[in-house]
Amino acid sequence: MVDAHRLWKGPILDNHFHLNRKGRFLDAAKDFKNVGGTHLVLVHCPDFASPPTSLKEHRETYADTIAMAEEVRVEHNLHVRVVLGPHPAAFAHQFIKWMEEDGEKGIEKACENYRDSIDAALEFVKEGQAHAIGEVGRPHWEVSDEVWDLSNQLLEETMALAAKEGIPLQLHVEGELESTYRDLSEMAARANLPTHRLIRHYSPPQIDESITRGLTSSVLVGKGALEPLLASYEQNQTGFMLETDYMDDPRRPGAVLGPKTVPKRTQQLIEAGMDEEMLWKCHVDIPNALYGEAEE
Ligand SMILES: [Zn+2]
Repeated sequence: MVDAHRLWKGPILDNHFHLNRKGRFLDAAKDFKNVGGTHLVLVHCPDFASPPTSLKEHRETYADTIAMAEEVRVEHNLHVRVVLGPHPAAFAHQFIKWMEEDGEKGIEKACENYRDSIDAALEFVKEGQAHAIGEVGRPHWEVSDEVWDLSNQLLEETMALAAKEGIPLQLHVEGELESTYRDLSEMAARANLPTHRLIRHYSPPQIDESITRGLTSSVLVGKGALEPLLASYEQNQTGFMLETDYMDDPRRPGAVLGPKTVPKRTQQLIEAGMDEEMLWKCHVDIPNALYGEAEE
């Protein structure tokens, strides 16, 4: 039953949000805040045209994302967590290019660059300046077996590292339901990583536990997402969060969900009957358990 009088006044977190100094940047964060948003998870976005190729460059580009997070905190008094890592699309393109140029040597160089980018991200997590590694994963488009296998190999290696260091990963993967979750949960088991520490970014809204298999779903809340989410969340035990994957890309305005979407959908969920306890879990308990408490 829809009840337009129910209103959510608690914290509201967007679990996957990008900002771009050449985009709307602080204004986009302000839009989020103006409609009730309180907590952002800012995910590093590489310069796809020229991704970093050395440890020093990885550190520099990450440091800029951390600086952006701080500007948002100071300017808008929002709580901002930071997620850093090598975007799987950028990595795959680099890998293909270097392999074509240099064969075996190129492959080695690409792997080394991937590991450098993970190491640099981990340093910032250990310093408390970042809260998870991501987005990491594998290409969401058709690639050669070689690229696919290497992407999986490196992802599993990163899962083992996350297990050792006790940190969560935000995953960017292909869009299947059953097969993707199954595959990832099996990789986590081999890597000894508790599956809930894998956060599937851009998750489809069907989150029955029989599908998600212990992974945490970060549900992309497009228009059609509410109905399947409402139909399945009671069958989910692990937990979920909501996200826009806001891109802040001035060349593609409106191509993705806008910064106001998670607060708007949160109100729609409570109007549609989702209980407050569930929303508290989604916006507070799950992120606190994964990323660490949100200090006030
Ligand atoms: Zn993203």
